[in-house]
Amino acid sequence: MIKNLASGDKTAPKAISRDRETISVITSKNKPQWQRELANAIRSADLLCERLGLKAIGHDSKATGAESNSTQKGTNGHSLQSILRQFPVLVPESFLRRMTPRDPRDPLLLQVLPSFHELDKTVGYSFDPVGDRQSVFAPGMLQKYRGRALMITVGQCAVHCRYCFRRNYPYHQSPRSLEQWEPSLEKLRQNRQIEEIILSGGDPLVLGDQRLAKLIGRLDAIDHLKRIRIHTRLPIVLPSRVTEGLLDLFRNSRLQPIFVVHANHPNELVDDCAEAIVRTVRAGIPVLNQAVLLKGINDTTETQAELCRRLINLGAIPYYLHQLDRVEGAAHFETGVTLGKKIIDELKQQLPGYAVPKYVREIPGEPGKTELT
Ligand SMILES: *Cc1c(COP(=O)(O)O)cnc(C)c1O
Ligand code: SF4
Repeated sequence: MIKNLASGDKTAPKAISRDRETISVITSKNKPQWQRELANAIRSADLLCERLGLKAIGHDSKATGAESNSTQKGTNGHSLQSILRQFPVLVPESFLRRMTPRDPRDPLLLQVLPSFHELDKTVGYSFDPVGDRQSVFAPGMLQKYRGRALMITVGQCAVHCRYCFRRNYPYHQSPRSLEQWEPSLEKLRQNRQIEEIILSGGDPLVLGDQRLAKLIGRLDAIDHLKRIRIHTRLPIVLPSRVTEGLLDLFRNSRLQPIFVVHANHPNELVDDCAEAIVRTVRAGIPVLNQAVLLKGINDTTETQAELCRRLINLGAIPYYLHQLDRVEGAAHFETGVTLGKKIIDELKQQLPGYAVPKYVREIPGEPGKTELT
C-alpha cells in the first residue's frame, strides 16, 4: 500500500526504485488487462473529485472535513500533502464506476478520499496499533497466532483505503525476490507447527501470475503446510485480476486455498465484482469476507445486513467485522463498540447464523482476534 506504482511520480524517486521489481512487471509489454487497469488507476484526489463531478478536496468543507486548502497543517505539523506523498490516492476505474456521481457522502468514495482529519493527532492512536513489528519471526513473516503465519508478500495494493492499519508498515524491510525470501521460507520449513500460510501485504494479488506460481510452488513443497489463505482486496476493487489463470494457480496447488476478501459496503458487490466472486466460489475456492466498521460508511444495521445478504447470495461467507485498528490518521472512522454490538445483535435477528460475521478487535499479545460480544 505504501507507494504508488506510478508512472511519473517525480516527487518520490526513492519509492519508485524501491518498487522497481513490481513496476517492471506492471510496465512489461503484453501485460494483462488487470495490470493495465492498475497502471491507469486514479492517483490524485483532484482527479477523483473531478470524475465524480465534485469540487476538489479543500474547497468543500462538507465533503472532506476540510476548512482550507490541502497545505493545511495538522496539530502534528504534517500537511496533507506530506501524508499523500507517503500514502497517495489510489483508486481503480472499476471501483470508481460503483460510486454515485455528485454524492460527496458516497460510501465507496469515503473509503478512499483523503481528509484533513488524517492530520488529527488522537490519544490512543499510534503508528503500529496491532503490534506487527513485534511479531516478525523472519523478514517479511509474522506470527501472532498458533498454526498460522502471515507473509507480507508485497507492499502495494490496488487501492489505498484511508483507514488502513498497515499504512505505516515498513514494507521495504520485507524481502522481494524469491531468493531474498529463501531464509524466511527456511524458517517456515523449520516451524512444523504452522499449518496455514496467509499471503498478505499490501495485497498479494498485485503480484503477477508467474511470481505467484513460483511462490505457491515453494509453499506446496513444505509438507507441514495444509492451507494457503489469500488476504486480498483485488476481487473487490480490481475484479479483472480474477482470471482463470489465477484461479488455476490455486486450484492446482496441493494446499487448500481460502480467499479472504475485503468489502465494506453492499454497493461494492455489484457488476464485475459480483461476477468475480461467483467465479472464485464456482472454481471451488471458499471466499470469506472481512469488513471494517466505519463511521458514516457502514455503521447501520441496514447496511451491514445488506452487505451480508449480498455476500451469501454470491456464495461468500461474512467472516469478521473488525472494530477499527487505532492507526494514526484514521480516528475519524471510529465508531463505538456499543453500536457495533447492537448492529450484530440486530443482524442475528434477521439473518441465517452463517451470515452473521464475528465482531472482533485485534489486541496485541492476544492469542487470536478478540470477539466483542
Ligand atoms: C489476523 C491475523 C491472522 C488471522 O487470524 P484468523 O483469526 O485466523 O483469521 C493471522 N496472523 C496475523 C498476524 C493476523 O494479524
Ligand atoms: S486495507 Fe488492505 S487494500 Fe486497503 S490499503 Fe490497507 S492493505 Fe491495502
